[in-house]
Amino acid sequence: MALMNGEQYRESLKKMRPNMYKWGELIADVTTHPATRLHVQSVADSYDAAFDPERAPLFTTKSPLSGETAHRWNTLMNSMEAVLGNSKMKRAQYQRTGTCQGATCAGWTGINVLWAVTYEMDKELGTNYHERVKNYFKHVEDNALALAGAITDAKGNRALKPSEQPNKDSNLHVKEIRPDGIVIRGYKAQICGVAACHEIIAMAGSGYGEADKDFCLAVAVPRDVAGLTIVETRRPSDARDEEEGWDAPKAGNITQAFLFFDDVFVPNDRVFLCGEFKYTGKAIGYFTAIYRAAIGACVAGQGDIMCGAAINMARANGLSQKAFQDKLNQMAINNEITYSVGLGAMLAGKGHASGLWIPDMLLAHVNKTQVAKLPYETKVICQDISGGVAETGCFPSYQDCQSPLYGAEVLKALAAGADGETRARAARLVEWLTVGGGIPGCMHGGGSPDGARMVVRAMEPWEKFAKEAKRIAGITAELADPAPAKK
Ligand SMILES: Cc1cc2nc3c(=O)[nH]c(=O)nc-3n(C[C@H](O)[C@H](O)[C@H](O)COP(=O)(O)OP(=O)(O)OC[C@H]3O[C@@H](n4cnc5c(N)ncnc54)[C@H](O)[C@@H]3O)c2cc1C
Repeated sequence: MALMNGEQYRESLKKMRPNMYKWGELIADVTTHPATRLHVQSVADSYDAAFDPERAPLFTTKSPLSGETAHRWNTLMNSMEAVLGNSKMKRAQYQRTGTCQGATCAGWTGINVLWAVTYEMDKELGTNYHERVKNYFKHVEDNALALAGAITDAKGNRALKPSEQPNKDSNLHVKEIRPDGIVIRGYKAQICGVAACHEIIAMAGSGYGEADKDFCLAVAVPRDVAGLTIVETRRPSDARDEEEGWDAPKAGNITQAFLFFDDVFVPNDRVFLCGEFKYTGKAIGYFTAIYRAAIGACVAGQGDIMCGAAINMARANGLSQKAFQDKLNQMAINNEITYSVGLGAMLAGKGHASGLWIPDMLLAHVNKTQVAKLPYETKVICQDISGGVAETGCFPSYQDCQSPLYGAEVLKALAAGADGETRARAARLVEWLTVGGGIPGCMHGGGSPDGARMVVRAMEPWEKFAKEAKRIAGITAELADPAPAKK
């Protein structure tokens, strides 16, 4: 079964062992629980897209491994067109729900990255990890799986390395190596899409040296594997199914999670890196190149919805789109900048010897710096156009609108260019997109912008630029950096 529809996907999640908690209670069924239902619904919508003639070309592709049609997020990104497909699909997903789909994103990127890294490891070390990744990829495709990607560790004190942390569990690590597999334990934090996934790709959170060898791992585990406890972390105000009526639009709802691995056994065929510290930096490098090139499309898709939400608000307020066209143009320009810098990274990318297409690292990191900035400006403009009613807490709740005592008057007070309910719905969407859970991924999703700036600083050929500028200016004198001041 290379393709599954939304209903089959829901059924497959229902069969899994419940191991996710929220508000101190076990979530018995992620497909119906208010904290997770809408996320599952949006991923189910992506599964259904495989059977929709209009959307199928974007949401499916021919698998380079089997030659069969598969969900796009189950395939190897082996060409520029394939990584472009990742971007286009993500923009389309955000346009459907206004938010992230997690379970069709970071895990998919992770297994693609491991495809390339294990290829290098096998060549240089004589290991057989690549064969394992190949078999696992086949398993993912055959079973049409949704994968979450767990890279970020809880970390502990940011100034200390994993091996220096007072609590070793702050970072996921290998506790024991057995003949048939490994035992892992520790915490992963802020992981997106776990509620809606079947399996988790867990990888080392950074590039490490020998001292942190124990923290160098890459594995695939079922979401309900024995020993894994998950706590869902989204706040009620960020989620969309926990408030009544139109206070919470009923489409999309990213989920986030803390993962607690308590001596989880991973059989060898699911271990793709174990202690080979030299390759963790490469894995993070390839991961960020693919991820940060595509994330511009995510925020662009969300920005598209912000444009629409602002137009709706203007009209609900009784004003024409024309009154705000310059501002709307700026919103659209912001969206297209992050989208196109990502596309540029893909175009300037290179094929890896393993077959993976890796976007240009410098451009991908430049994109991350813009993703951490431009969507916020877009949100500001969206609020600006919408008026105070769309800022948080500035009009009565749905429940108040239903009050037999004063509900009708509230709705009359809300009415402007449209009736009160229409304006309330439009305002709640702007509020959610600009100050609520609609922000996911802009600042730290895919890594911090400071990390991206460090890569830009390291990759730009500054001396070459200075030399060329000297030549054009006709400068022949020595122009070296002054020696550091003596303390
Ligand atoms: C919406 C969302 C979705 C996410 N989804 C996923 C996911 O699916 N999978 C996943 O693995 N992760 C995910 N993450 C986590 C994300 O990758 C991290 O948030 C990100 O890498 C930053 O790590 P942090 O949050 O621990 O920030 P911190 O490490 O605490 O960084 C905070 C600030 O301190 C700086 N800093 C950190 N350490 C140092 C140091 N030693 N010296 C100087 N400055 C330092 C950073 O650059 C940053 O500016 C998600 C995050 C968000 C917000």
